[in-house]
Amino acid sequence: MKPIPTDLFINGEWRPAADGAKTPLVNPATEEPLAEVAAASVADLGLAVESAQQAFDGGWRDLAPGKRAEVLFGIARLIRENLKTLAALECANIGKPITDARDEIALGARIFEYYAGGVSRFCGQTIPVARGGFDYTLRTPMGVVAAIVPWNFPFPIACWKVAPALAAGNAVVLKPASLSPLTALMLGQLAHAAGLPSGVLQVVSGSGQAIGDALVQHPLIRKISFTGSTAVGARIMALAAPGIKRISLELGGKSPNIVFADSDWRRAAETSPMSVFANTGQDCCARSRLFVERSILEPFLEALVAATRKLVVDDPLRPETQIGPLVSAGQRESVEAYLAEAQAAGRTVAVGGVRPKRKGYFLEPAVLVGVEPGDRCWQEEIFGPVVCVRPFEDEAAMIGEVNASPYGLSGSVWTDNLSRALRVARQIESGVLSINSHSSVHVEAPFGGFKQSGVGRDLGMQALEGYTELKNVYIAESP
Ligand code: NAD
Repeated sequence: MKPIPTDLFINGEWRPAADGAKTPLVNPATEEPLAEVAAASVADLGLAVESAQQAFDGGWRDLAPGKRAEVLFGIARLIRENLKTLAALECANIGKPITDARDEIALGARIFEYYAGGVSRFCGQTIPVARGGFDYTLRTPMGVVAAIVPWNFPFPIACWKVAPALAAGNAVVLKPASLSPLTALMLGQLAHAAGLPSGVLQVVSGSGQAIGDALVQHPLIRKISFTGSTAVGARIMALAAPGIKRISLELGGKSPNIVFADSDWRRAAETSPMSVFANTGQDCCARSRLFVERSILEPFLEALVAATRKLVVDDPLRPETQIGPLVSAGQRESVEAYLAEAQAAGRTVAVGGVRPKRKGYFLEPAVLVGVEPGDRCWQEEIFGPVVCVRPFEDEAAMIGEVNASPYGLSGSVWTDNLSRALRVARQIESGVLSINSHSSVHVEAPFGGFKQSGVGRDLGMQALEGYTELKNVYIAESP
């Protein structure tokens, strides 16, 4: 493997951008330059899409599922063999703590294994129809899929789009975020080394503003699978509309963490900091709105602040580090602006919110209290290490406040009352919810949002369905 990939990966080869353009990358933990990576132009993109179409037509679509599975298992094996290198790249590129980075690379391998196994069991139906004869359904690949991914979980999100799309027989043009292209580029090379035919997976790093519209509107692109901000998702939806292109959008979130007095709230307080501060809060599922039943507010806050103080904010290369830097200087400034606005309005920072005295875009995780429903910090996705806390007294009113959010991605509910758990889980408008836990992502289960958090689902067998067209065939019994 190349130590640091700096070119586009098109047709099984490294190649510079046609116009020689490059994006400089900075290590956010050190503020030192890391690499300069090719920034694709519209011409590079056109080449990638057209040759992906040729690779699709040239045999990948017609390969038996079992043969595609062999290649996918091979990709998983190579990911595992290169786990340390990939994790080190992710750590240097976006400041991801190394222990998390290793877990995420391993998750990528698991995703390839899951879809390699799943595709052989991915069947159509036979359907009894009224007039005899024989009716059956086929799941057919779509063609060339554009997979557009963000910078916060670059490797697993790339894998959870690429693996099911390839398993279903599509070709893929993968566009990583311009801040975080390194592991995606490596994935292209590893997939090719595992036997994926040239052109079936193209990796074009570059800015969304420069090539995003051209990618979405390219006539050969049949489906856009996007993860990123709601604003860009809305733009993609609009641009895809004239061609009635298939889309799946995984967008922003402002997820609730609801703690009832009848729960093991001490455990909730201990585990809640990492439910929002993991990945330095740059997580679409971050439980950034904490609803705490008023009768336990005081002791809960005390425990929450104590648990937050214990978090290890440090060099992401140290295995003990839980919280690394934010991804960029701009991202940290944006988070600080939310904190400053809240403080100017009289809200209290109970802990954190300051820059530690060191290089890198670090910010101590912050707990904001005294927040009011109309506050921007309570309404908007901050995408940084800030949790806002509000007490509640009435279950129904609290659910009303949760559901007033335009988002509906994820959330946690803490209660030991089974009836309440069932009732609240049914009423909360979100695609993913956990009771007495903070987990959101399981390879085997569908993941995605309600409302402005998106449409479509990643992961699980639902994702495989999302990369196919459903065809119904009827054979007459007699002419
Ligand atoms: P972003 O929307 O700025 O960028 C995401 C990707 O879209 C990048 O690859 C970017 O280059 C590309 N892009 C930008 N403009 C484009 C355009 N006009 N056309 C096509 N592509 C374009 O988001 P980000 O800042 O990278 O990521 C943060 C956002 O992603 C947050 O809102 C977060 O909640 C969301 N996110 C959602 C999920 C989820 O599964 N729901 C997961 C992770 C992140």
